Amino acid sequence: MQLSLKQYRQIVVLTGAGVSVASGLRPYRGPGGWWADHPEDLEMATAEAAAADPMAPWRVFATLRKGVAEATPNAAHVALATAEAKMRPGTSLTIVTQNVDGLHQAAGSSNVIEIHGNLSRTRCSRTDCDLPAYRDRTTVVEALPRCPRCESPLRPDVVLFGEEMPARPMWETKQLLRDCDLFLAVGTSGTVSPASNFVRSAEYAGARTIFVNLEPLSPPNPAFQEQVLGPAESVLPVMLGVAGT
Ligand SMILES: [Zn+2]
Repeated sequence: MQLSLKQYRQIVVLTGAGVSVASGLRPYRGPGGWWADHPEDLEMATAEAAAADPMAPWRVFATLRKGVAEATPNAAHVALATAEAKMRPGTSLTIVTQNVDGLHQAAGSSNVIEIHGNLSRTRCSRTDCDLPAYRDRTTVVEALPRCPRCESPLRPDVVLFGEEMPARPMWETKQLLRDCDLFLAVGTSGTVSPASNFVRSAEYAGARTIFVNLEPLSPPNPAFQEQVLGPAESVLPVMLGVAGT
């Protein structure tokens, strides 16, 4: 299937772990995911553990940061960045990603909303502190880093288990979906939140909705009108009409 992107005004692409598998990053969640093999890390990646011991998220994510620092974008990331660059003035293609690896931006995409944060960013643990989140690729953290402005512990800027998704990116996504005319979900489960909520909003707005994944939707989600099966790095370049560019 090849889409004619010129027909669309506001495209929203939700991406998940399946998009980064070809970059050597294994999914965190689900069967065969990182957490399933590292139950002790999973316990430390929770809001509760971080509240009891602010070093807990550093211990878990220092290892994962190393994998992200070594990964490079694959053909799926590049296809999305190329498609965005080809959008005409007054139209937009926005990526809403559950991934925390920063690979969309590394591929050149500029409209990227990160709903689970970014592993290569650090922020103050106090949400009302005015220290801006900053890029940080440190992979070895021996002592708890503290905020230069308020002395609170610093933390990786990712959403821990048991935490709400950040308000601003979720609000931005809802605004976009309200007026979207093409919605793609790529490499993510189409039946659980947030994909299941996002596709319903897009469908309500009258968008064409397409599910792209290795595995078919199970159980089926009628809000997705079409389904394309295959690895994201093979499907997207063809679907977006940017193969070989
Ligand atoms: Zn602070």
